Amino acid sequence: MLQKIIVTGGCGYIGSHTVVELISNNFEVVIIDDLSNSNKKTLERITKITGVCPSFEHIDLKDIEKTKSIFKKHNDAVAVIHFAAFKAVAESVKEPLMYYRNNLLSLINILEFQIEEGITNFIFSSSATVYGAPEKLPITEKNEVQRPFSPYGNTKKIAEEILEDLVKTSSNLSAISLRYFNPIGAHESGFLGELPNGIPNNLMPYITQTAAGIREELHVFGNDYDTKDGTPVRDYIHVVDLAEAHLKALQRLLNKEQEKPLEIYNLGTGNGYSVLEIIKSFEKTTNTSLNYKIVKRRPGDVEKLYADTTLAEEKLNWKCKHGIDEMIASSWKWEENLKNEQ
Ligand code: UDP
Repeated sequence: MLQKIIVTGGCGYIGSHTVVELISNNFEVVIIDDLSNSNKKTLERITKITGVCPSFEHIDLKDIEKTKSIFKKHNDAVAVIHFAAFKAVAESVKEPLMYYRNNLLSLINILEFQIEEGITNFIFSSSATVYGAPEKLPITEKNEVQRPFSPYGNTKKIAEEILEDLVKTSSNLSAISLRYFNPIGAHESGFLGELPNGIPNNLMPYITQTAAGIREELHVFGNDYDTKDGTPVRDYIHVVDLAEAHLKALQRLLNKEQEKPLEIYNLGTGNGYSVLEIIKSFEKTTNTSLNYKIVKRRPGDVEKLYADTTLAEEKLNWKCKHGIDEMIASSWKWEENLKNEQ
């Protein structure tokens, strides 16, 4: 019998790549997704890659009764990996209650009912946004957590605090929170990748959509930062490496290797690239010329963010395998495949 893993948000960008990784490593997967920012077609894409179609439960995790009954139905699961959340920074500034309601109520419901059903392992999608504007670089897990700039970011901080409180009770919960830096890239097959609804907020989908002619021009938000070329620096990580880190975290929980009931890890590569460096790499890797212009800073953007990845390497026995060119090439392959699907 395969071990069953519940993956919330499994039709989304990082969730779907993690589902592929889990199935390829002989886990049975149940996806819970409300499809609010994803597509059921992702199930076909996962099946095409793995040969297995995961079970799918179309429910809204804010719904207490439905969440309770889904956890009862799947109470033979051994862990929950929780991706399902709203993630658009600017939207969260406009609609804070929508973000707090969605991201926190769903988390509370999941935790309550998984514990009730005796499912004690939990992996959480957190973000480097909890470090705010860090004074010390590279960022280790010991860096101070700051009040994030957006309600979206704050839901991640509050969620970690909820976990911190919960593991102190007799809940038996074992949790790992993974703080992502900037996930980009797509599955090497070209069948799975990021599919933003509407106008993308993030850099890489905006670049690929501009190169594909869907967007007219990329706006580079500011070139007056104190960085090598004036544009902000980020730690971009291949989504497949990120997915693999979830598998490693899961194995750590299942093998009971945890040293404390809540462990926190940075997931990045340790390398920082500026926006202009990403654009240049994109142009070189894809042999295209990108239409872009420098505009004013985007409110809330931090100058430099990159991870110290030592802890994840040591404790999760994990290291990124893909470099920036592979991240960019796979993003572009996915965008081109999407175009051909139309
Ligand atoms: N960025 C940009 N133009 C865009 C989107 C993003 O210049 O259309 C920049 C943004 O200012 C930041 C970097 O790209 O410096 C990464 O932004 P993204 O939204 O992808 O991730 P964030 O680091 O904000 O979570």
